Amino acid sequence: MRIAIAGGGLGGLTLARILHRHGIDAVVYEREAGRSARSQGGMLDLHPESGQQALTEAGLTGRFRSEARPEGEEHRILDPAGRTLVHHKPQPGSFSGRPEIDRRRLRDLLLDSLPGDAVAWQHRLVAATRRPDGGFGLTFDGGQRADCDILVGADGARSVVRSLLTDAGLSYVATLVELSIGDADRRHPELAELVGPGNLWCVGVNQILAAQRLGDGTIRVGVSLRAKEVDLDTYRSKRALLDLFAGWDPSLTALIEAGDGAPTPRRIEAMPIGTRWANQPGITLIGDAAHLMPPVGEGANQAMLDAAELAAELADNPADPDSAIRTYEAAMFRRIHPIAEMSARVQAMMLSPTAADEIVRFFAPQSAEPAPADR
Ligand SMILES: Cc1cc2nc3c(=O)[nH]c(=O)nc-3n(C[C@H](O)[C@H](O)[C@H](O)COP(=O)(O)OP(=O)(O)OC[C@H]3O[C@@H](n4cnc5c(N)ncnc54)[C@H](O)[C@@H]3O)c2cc1C
Repeated sequence: MRIAIAGGGLGGLTLARILHRHGIDAVVYEREAGRSARSQGGMLDLHPESGQQALTEAGLTGRFRSEARPEGEEHRILDPAGRTLVHHKPQPGSFSGRPEIDRRRLRDLLLDSLPGDAVAWQHRLVAATRRPDGGFGLTFDGGQRADCDILVGADGARSVVRSLLTDAGLSYVATLVELSIGDADRRHPELAELVGPGNLWCVGVNQILAAQRLGDGTIRVGVSLRAKEVDLDTYRSKRALLDLFAGWDPSLTALIEAGDGAPTPRRIEAMPIGTRWANQPGITLIGDAAHLMPPVGEGANQAMLDAAELAAELADNPADPDSAIRTYEAAMFRRIHPIAEMSARVQAMMLSPTAADEIVRFFAPQSAEPAPADR
């Protein structure tokens, strides 16, 4: 059984690792040139029932605990005047909640757990064609070709593999503008103090100024705005961003002023809630390729759980991988539907006029819903 996984993000690598533990080989085709080709972004909190569960199946709990930062769970929520609305401090050194880990470290941890030849770097999939005798012929940017019996699309938000299964489109749900402040303790101690060891959200009307501290002392700053048909280039200037926060306390807008380089805007997109497809032999999707949702803290966790569940089905039923895929898809569709609904609801709430009140309620101890994403 030749398994090809398109995409070496958290989902694809977790799948390759768990399959490898079961003695099943898979090749991960990743478009990037190598593990350090691109910055991997900020921190993630891994949930016990999804991301952490997948790492247990991957046999990587020990390494996760040595790399994770439970203190990163600390978060503060402020209003535009800089008043603290919520301040949550985790139990020191406790792994019982949702410990944070830098994405880069998590990806490295997965990459280190795979045989050296498991990832084919610089292989951007551009087409997959069903072969008459079963399986797929794959074509990569640059002309390389490969064949496989099973194709798993783990190729993220703008998946190429997705189009073989569904014509579900993406909708634009928010704008995120990011900045980064390197070596914050030394260069901007007052901002390091403001952000603390974890996350800070400054919540206004229809907009959020957020910051998080990474393990290497960098502060990542994210400005979340409602989706609006404007030229994203407008947000490439700090001046334009600062204008959006006119009247906010200068100790907060200092996070924008201190950014190294120009801000980087991007659209945040989502697939329709309840997207599913008719099962087809030899092909499936995991992670954002299967269910891109607004980023409120579930996407990576669910991508890793998809990987663990698909790997378990394939390992349990190696003689009938199509039946394994059918079982995986049915369970994944059921699991994701309420999570996608919740993610859309939280996203809309966070960028609403009453966000501050609702977020305070959200973080009240009896709250049943997960915390908003670490932006
Ligand atoms: C700002 C922000 C904050 C977030 N915060 C959180 C959070 O706190 N918690 C959480 O759980 N989730 C969070 N998410 C969501 C999370 O990032 C994604 O859901 C998760 O990364 C999905 O994993 P994946 O493996 O499916 O896709 P990705 O991580 O996107 O990986 C896809 C991989 O496929 C590769 N690729 C793409 N196209 C091709 C191709 N054609 N051929 C070969 N390779 C290809 C890419 O280079 C990439 O390596 C956040 C998202 C955003 C945008």
